[in-house]
Amino acid sequence: MMDRKKILVTGGAGFIGSHLCQKLLDQGHEIICVDNLFTGSKQNIEPLLDNNRFEFIRHDVTFPLSLEIDQIYNLACPASPLHYQHDPVQTIKTSVHGAINMLELAKRTSARILQASTSEVYGDPTVHPQPESYVGSVNPIGPRACYDEGKRAAETLFFDYHRQHEIDIRVVRIFNTYGPKMAMNDGRVVSNFIIQALNNKPITLFGDGKQTRSFCYVDDLVDGLINMMNQNKIVGPVNIGNPEEITIFELANEIIELTDSNSDISFNSLPKDDPMQRQPDIQLARKILQWEPLVYRYDGLKKTIDYFSTKI
Ligand code: NAD
Ligand code: UDP
Repeated sequence: MMDRKKILVTGGAGFIGSHLCQKLLDQGHEIICVDNLFTGSKQNIEPLLDNNRFEFIRHDVTFPLSLEIDQIYNLACPASPLHYQHDPVQTIKTSVHGAINMLELAKRTSARILQASTSEVYGDPTVHPQPESYVGSVNPIGPRACYDEGKRAAETLFFDYHRQHEIDIRVVRIFNTYGPKMAMNDGRVVSNFIIQALNNKPITLFGDGKQTRSFCYVDDLVDGLINMMNQNKIVGPVNIGNPEEITIFELANEIIELTDSNSDISFNSLPKDDPMQRQPDIQLARKILQWEPLVYRYDGLKKTIDYFSTKI
């Protein structure tokens, strides 16, 4: 077994965070999960609560926190447009004040800290697929800016703390991720379509469905995060995602087929600033982390559908 570490996971009761806590527990570490339960839930971490190496603290990362830890995964931040646009000021505060508070904690404890950044730093990209060197195309005053610019500012803070205070940082840019434990009311495309299809309700396609995304199964993503944290070659940013690109129209049809649903597709207006295309260039992750996604969309969607079938 590797050295047992004390690891803080902020946003640990959320979709990705709860999978990450589980995996780190399986590896034998001690986990402190910090979450204000805005979009996460106690249900996500309920199976972990019996483990005496797991501790949950209800706390908002926009306020300082004092703990003794070896590593920090900073995931706290609502990720779905529906939720991050609900209280945009709190969203940007979570990214910016949250980053400062966690970086200060890393500084005091000499912990290594990994930031969960996002493909949204590329905005509506004009370079395709997106390599880490692409600086992005983000509207700073649009409805997605509270999230996109918050995450961009958090990256800036990470690199400034690294240069100015020699904080041991890692930065990953996560592309669209899906899987069990996504919140029912999350509003993201995979959960929305699966729930609608299982209920034989219309599939709410936004726009003409020609926009693309590239979907990564959560187990692959979590492996990528842990690989990035535990290597000493680069601080990042490194893209983590599945390069298999699909239009949202194709995704709707795949989910209808996999659920054997009678749902029709209903066409709705496209939200403002919705990116037209998104596909990670993962050459760096392949080379440095020896990481690449292993789960095919067909298998990942099946597992996610099985999960939601037990919830509705
Ligand atoms: P999620 O909404 O399920 O999880 C976010 C968690 O952070 C929730 O448990 C929420 O309650 C918590 N949180 C929010 N604000 C907080 C605050 N102020 N203080 C403490 N906790 C707070 O989303 P997710 O999909 O699990 O995303 C996790 C991280 O990964 C986020 O930082 C997100 O930006 C990033 N990310 C996710 C995706 C994706 O496709 N899922 C893509 C890119 C980046
Ligand atoms: N989308 C859709 N119907 C929905 C939810 C989302 O057509 O019910 C579209 C959305 O407009 C976007 C894509 O699916 O083009 C992915 O949306 P999501 O919110 O999951 O992630 P993001 O836009 O942040 O990549």
